[in-house]
Amino acid sequence: MRVGIVGAGASGVLCAIYAAYKGHDVILFERKDRMLKKVLITGNGTCNFTNINAGYGNYFSIEEKIDERLFKEYSYQDVISFFKTLGIEYKVEKFGKVYPLSYQASSIVDALRFKVESMRNIEVKLNFEVSKIRKKNNVFNVTNLDNENVVVDRLVMATGGISYPELGSNGSGYELANKMGHSKTEIYPVLVQLKVDKKYAKGLEGVKQKVKLSVYKGDEFLRSDENELLFTPYGVSGPCIFNLSYLTAIYNMDILYWHVDFLSMYSEDELRDMLYFRKKQLGYLEIEYYLNGLVNKKFAGYLLKSVGIEKLNFKVSELSDDIIEKLVEKLKKFVFKVYDTTGFSNAQVTAGGIRLSEVDNYSLESKIIPGLYFTGEVLDIFGDCGGYNLNWCFISGMHVGKNI
Ligand SMILES: Cc1cc2nc3c(=O)[nH]c(=O)nc-3n(C[C@H](O)[C@H](O)[C@H](O)COP(=O)(O)OP(=O)(O)OC[C@H]3O[C@@H](n4cnc5c(N)ncnc54)[C@H](O)[C@@H]3O)c2cc1C
Repeated sequence: MRVGIVGAGASGVLCAIYAAYKGHDVILFERKDRMLKKVLITGNGTCNFTNINAGYGNYFSIEEKIDERLFKEYSYQDVISFFKTLGIEYKVEKFGKVYPLSYQASSIVDALRFKVESMRNIEVKLNFEVSKIRKKNNVFNVTNLDNENVVVDRLVMATGGISYPELGSNGSGYELANKMGHSKTEIYPVLVQLKVDKKYAKGLEGVKQKVKLSVYKGDEFLRSDENELLFTPYGVSGPCIFNLSYLTAIYNMDILYWHVDFLSMYSEDELRDMLYFRKKQLGYLEIEYYLNGLVNKKFAGYLLKSVGIEKLNFKVSELSDDIIEKLVEKLKKFVFKVYDTTGFSNAQVTAGGIRLSEVDNYSLESKIIPGLYFTGEVLDIFGDCGGYNLNWCFISGMHVGKNI
């Protein structure tokens, strides 16, 4: 059987290899001049390709959820084992993140490319931008911008989302699917920097600190992350923002409150005691040095200003209890609101996609057009930050390739 796969990214390539293992003749259509362009820049060029904690709970959808069985049948171990067969050894890092031992995304890309090139039953058509798909007489006619037409028996859409469009996934997959009767949910950029109103963060630009960031919907706690937070001229960035930014896709941003605990290693009482103790012990210091050694210097200046200390011409011993209480509050419960993200061109992942209600959410075959399948980021499923997204692309590609 001839299997066509639109998109030679992470999920399309895995799907091609597994479909070829089954004996199918596979044709990979790729609009760019090279396959796997996005994978090359993952993990800042180191490729965090799976996570040893990956499970159903790490994945989210805007509408209907995927079938949990997929995460019982496939795990990070399948991903690691597959890559080992291609010569990729691995290293597990902090938070369960898995990298190639070379710490080079190019190793993963080369291993996949050489494998594909070694398989006689996979043909790769580069610079082939699929612009029309028609199903007639039980076969798919796949046509590119130059009107070149290829006929296949089964077709897989592995066209990715719309983030970092210059790397290939420009959203054309949604349009092609749309013309075949499929629709997509709302889509949102995730694993992305966030924009914060100046009134919350003015003066904090450049401050970088390990914090505990907790997100609340009104009074309801949603999720927290302990990691580095960076204040930028437009808002906030850093690992904890990438880890929690997905909440802006699932909830209305207006009702989210972002609570920063700048000194999570101390309880509120411990911090209060410490600040009173510092007042006694460091009473001889000018006030601007009161927080020296406790927080970043720029941040200390911001904090003192934000609790109402305008003039710095007094000694630590003269600090009022009221100011100390305000400092405790600022350090333990600094709250800001987010009004936007920095958009798809900066987002690692697209949340939302082809509606899972229109796809058998186990086989990933279209309920509208038999013989049409979807894998990877094009679907309405995305994962946590930390190797979970590539993990999904790989296991969904494997699953469809094995079963098509
Ligand atoms: C900067 C960055 C860093 C990241 N780091 C990580 C990380 O460390 N770990 C992790 O798990 N995830 C990471 N991700 C996310 C991960 O890379 C993606 O989720 C994953 O690559 C998506 O794979 P995919 O196969 O679904 O789509 P893609 O990799 O986007 O591939 C889709 C392919 O389809 C092709 N295509 C689209 N439309 C057509 C068409 N009409 N005709 C022909 N071809 C078409 C595109 O050119 C593209 O090659 C990162 C993403 C970015 C942007």
